[in-house]
Amino acid sequence: MMNNYGTPKLALERGEGAYVWDTDGNRYLDLVSGIAVNALGHAHPAIVAAVTEQIGKLAHTSNLYINKPALELAERLLDLAGLTGKVLFTNSGAEAVETALKLSRRTGRSKLVATTGGFHGRTMGALTLTGQEPKRTPFQPLLPGVTHIPYGDVKALEDAIDDETAAFIVEPVQGEQGVVVPPEGYLQAAREITTKHGALLILDEVQTGLGRLGSWFAFQQVGVVPDIFTLAKGLGAGLPMGACIAVGDNANLFVPGHHGTTFGGNPVVAAAALAMINAIASEGLVEHTAAVGKEIVAGVENLGHPNIAGVRGAGLLIGIMLRGKKSADVAAAAEKTGYLINPIQPEVIRLAPPLILTHDDAARFVADLPSALEGS
Ligand code: PLP
Repeated sequence: MMNNYGTPKLALERGEGAYVWDTDGNRYLDLVSGIAVNALGHAHPAIVAAVTEQIGKLAHTSNLYINKPALELAERLLDLAGLTGKVLFTNSGAEAVETALKLSRRTGRSKLVATTGGFHGRTMGALTLTGQEPKRTPFQPLLPGVTHIPYGDVKALEDAIDDETAAFIVEPVQGEQGVVVPPEGYLQAAREITTKHGALLILDEVQTGLGRLGSWFAFQQVGVVPDIFTLAKGLGAGLPMGACIAVGDNANLFVPGHHGTTFGGNPVVAAAALAMINAIASEGLVEHTAAVGKEIVAGVENLGHPNIAGVRGAGLLIGIMLRGKKSADVAAAAEKTGYLINPIQPEVIRLAPPLILTHDDAARFVADLPSALEGS
């Protein structure tokens, strides 16, 4: 394998619920969940059953033929969003963003606005929208016509968006930047400003969507309707799947021949996604996520630990800001005591556990956090 990830220190072999085991048999509470992916944890019986049944029936069709799970999933996603529109399935978040970007070109405009610190993926178009210089610099030149403005800054938005802007793309919470939450009213302002100039508002919900923030979609918490939103990560229940969802007439910007992907809407992954959505709904996991997330935030705050500078986030996407400690050292110390946590920024730990995380496991992590801080 290429050396683009560095060398991972841990080889994982199996998982069950919120726990994973490495190849030496050590058990960890998984507070990373494959980077905000495994919403139902590992080896959830409903997912195993759905995948087994579908793969025994039909594993792949291509997009020359329609398949029932994909169609049902598209309808289900729109229902959950409470919107009319259309879905295009992809295999990853970056591809969902590329799809949104290509849709925006169909407006006849090409100027794009994105945010500093924002992350939208690694393919060339998505990378152009990503506002993190170290990831962009080795791959210049990128797409022309993209401006990055500070995240959360309404004045900068007003200045950047004009009648030639095709779209503004933004994460409801910046995940990869360290779980950065924008000021109240920011997404509403983004909606107003884009509408005023006839520009599309693209919400990148790849990380925040499907229950993670304690609502099916982040935009539902702030009462904003995007023109386009993107999903991936949690969508396939651990299998690769993304989606670009266009609301209302925006969905008609593509006509046959404009875009496609061989595997998009694969029936096995769609069956897994449907089973996952059903389980999240029937097990009340959206509400559970909101409640357990609040417990973790309050618990970490109440520790009053000198090495904790603050906690931020919503639902089960949480950033713990450190003081006087390096996140990589804290994560290494936590790993030794049986917790997987993600050192997303040098001084920020990200928690993105499965939505099935129990109250007890959350409390146990909070209680053991000081020993990871002190052991680092
Ligand atoms: N958009 C957001 C908000 C993300 O967090 C990510 C991945 O972290 C992506 C897009 C890219 O997704 P993928 O890694 O599946 O290409």
